[in-house]
Amino acid sequence: MKDKVFAKGQDGIRDIFHARKLKCTPQRLSVFKVLEESETYLSINSIHAKVKALLPGTGLATVYRSLDTLIDLGLVVKVHLEDGCHSYAVAPEGHRHPIVCTECNRVIEFAECPLDKISEKLSKDTGIEIQNHFLQLFGKCRGCSA
Ligand SMILES: [Zn+2]
Ligand SMILES: [Zn+2]
Repeated sequence: MKDKVFAKGQDGIRDIFHARKLKCTPQRLSVFKVLEESETYLSINSIHAKVKALLPGTGLATVYRSLDTLIDLGLVVKVHLEDGCHSYAVAPEGHRHPIVCTECNRVIEFAECPLDKISEKLSKDTGIEIQNHFLQLFGKCRGCSA
């Protein structure tokens, strides 16, 4: 288990945008940058506030649209927090699952996946070829339970 690592960086993002023939707008880059620099999942309002600090005048709708594009590209993931709000983070590299601290929203990722075996069995049992899954765990981090 290790803390979130971000390997893509701004240059990697440009390549991904260009490969998909999408414009690498300052807004899209800023939204990604804000998420990349955060240790926790961010709500839409905190993303908006941070993007506005970088690019004054950026509207909430633009932030939403940029997030949608980044999610489509697989660069950003949307998660569900316990209070029913959605939050966003940079997508992890490879197959990983997040554990979210319910107190501070800090995210720890783990690479161990218990679901592959279960998926195999379920595929056999149900005849549905399971291709993907979404798993997210909640808890209290060390800092918050102290
Ligand atoms: Zn915590
Ligand atoms: Zn998994």
